[in-house]
Amino acid sequence: MAALSVGQIIPAPATFPEIPSDWKSRFESSLSRLDELDIAPDLGTDIGSLRWWRGLFTCTALCAGTIMLAPTYKPFVADAPPVVTGNAWDEQRAQSIAPLAWGGDTGRRMAANDLVAPLNDTPERPVLSLTATLGQGDGFGRVLERAGVSQSDAKRVSALISQEVPLGEIEPGTVIDLTLGRRAKPTVPRPLDGLKLRARIDLSLMVQRSGSQLNLVRIPIAVDRTPLRIQGAVGGSLYRSARAAGAPSKAVEAYIKAIASKLSFERDIDSAARFDIIVEQARAETGEIEHGKLLYAGMTRGNRKTQLLQWTIGGNTEWFEATGVGQKRQGMTSPVAGRITSGFGRRFHPILGYSKMHMGVDFGAPTGTPVRAVTDGVIAFAGRNGGYGNHIRVTHNPKFGSSYSHLSRISVRPGERVLQGEVIGYVGSTGMSTGPHLHFEVYRNGQAVNPRTVNFESSSLLSGAELQAFRNRLSRLLEIPVAAR
Ligand SMILES: [Zn+2]
Repeated sequence: MAALSVGQIIPAPATFPEIPSDWKSRFESSLSRLDELDIAPDLGTDIGSLRWWRGLFTCTALCAGTIMLAPTYKPFVADAPPVVTGNAWDEQRAQSIAPLAWGGDTGRRMAANDLVAPLNDTPERPVLSLTATLGQGDGFGRVLERAGVSQSDAKRVSALISQEVPLGEIEPGTVIDLTLGRRAKPTVPRPLDGLKLRARIDLSLMVQRSGSQLNLVRIPIAVDRTPLRIQGAVGGSLYRSARAAGAPSKAVEAYIKAIASKLSFERDIDSAARFDIIVEQARAETGEIEHGKLLYAGMTRGNRKTQLLQWTIGGNTEWFEATGVGQKRQGMTSPVAGRITSGFGRRFHPILGYSKMHMGVDFGAPTGTPVRAVTDGVIAFAGRNGGYGNHIRVTHNPKFGSSYSHLSRISVRPGERVLQGEVIGYVGSTGMSTGPHLHFEVYRNGQAVNPRTVNFESSSLLSGAELQAFRNRLSRLLEIPVAAR
C-alpha cells in the first residue's frame, strides 16, 4: 500500500462539491496578503505614513486598556470598639470564664437584700478533733503548738509524756490525735481536752483533762518478741532470694556483711547453698511489726555449716563462728594452700640483687588464693606497709605473732579477732614482689623466727562461763522455728 504524503490529492466522494484544482495557489496568495498585514509595525520607520499612524493608534489603545484594567487596592477602615468601663465592664467580665489559676472569680453576684443581717459573733465548733504528725528532727512541744495547743498545755503534756518515754525516742512519723475544747474568748487558744499517741511499739499514751488537771494514762500493748527466722536457697542472688523469702532489707544487708567476713562469695558460696537468717522482731497485738538487728547468720554448703553469732567480748561486738569457738588447737595451720618456694634463712634477694636474710617463708600461690590465720588471734595491723605491700600482722598471744604480706586484698580490720583458719586476705603481688606469692613471718617476742621452730597451743577466745553462755544462746536461737511463708 502506497504511503500518504502531504500535498497528495485524495479524490473526494462524488456527492461533495468539487474542490477547485487551483486551491493550492489561491491559499498561498491569501496567506501572502495576511503576511502584509503587520499589526505591530516599527514606529521608528515610515513616520507619518498610514501604516505608522495605525501602529501608533494600536500602541495607544493597548496602553490605555492596560491602565484601565490595572487593579487598585485601598485599605478597609474598621471602627475600633469603644473601651468598656464601669458597670458595663463588670457585666461583661461576669459573663466570661476566668481561668481557675486566676481565682475563677467571674460570675454574677447577688447583693445583700433586706433579709440579710450582719452577724455580731460567729459560732464556734465546741470541739476540734485533729491529728498532728511528728516530723524528722521535730520537737514534741513544737508539734503541739503548731496544731493550736497553748504553750502552757504543750509544756505540761511534754512533761507528762517524758515521764514514760524520752521525747527524743518517739519515732518520727508518729501521729498524735488531739482534741481541743471550747475556748473562753476568741483571742485565747483552745484548751487541750485530750491527746493520744503510740509512744512505742508496746505502749500507747493518753492525756485526759479533768477540770484544770491533765492526767496521763498508760495503755500497754502486748508484743510478741519472738525473733524472725528465714531460710532458703541462695539461688541466683542471695539478696533477692532472702528478700523474696521475707527477710527485711536491713537484715539481709547485715547478713551479707557478716557472711562476707568469714566466707568468700566467689569461692565458697554457690546457688545450692542455703542461708539461715535470724533477726529481732517485735509484733504488736495491733498488727505493727518492727524488725531489729540481725541475731544469727547461718550458711549451709552441702554438709559444711557456717554458724555466725554476734558476741561482745572485751567491749567489742563481733561475729563468731560457732564451730570454731572454744576449741583448743595444737600448732598452727598452713596460711595458704600452696607450696613453699623459699624458706627461712640467708639467700640471694631476687630484687635487691645481694645476699640477705629471708625473715620468713614464701608460699607460691595464684593471685586471689585465700590466706588464713594460722591460729586464733587479734589483728594488730592491716594495711599498706612499704615493701611488704598489703600486710596483715596478727598477735596470737603476748609472746607470739605472725604476718602475711604482698596480699591483693585484705578482709579484716585492726582490732578484729580471728579464729584459726579464718580467711583474712588473698594472695597478691603488692609491695616488693616478683610475682604472686605469700610472704609469711612468725615472731617470738617481736623477733622474726623460723616458723618451723614454733609450735604453740592457741588458747580459746571464749572460755568457761562465757563459752557456756555463747553456746546456750546459740542453741536457744536455733530452736526458733522457720517463719512460714
Ligand atoms: Zn618472702
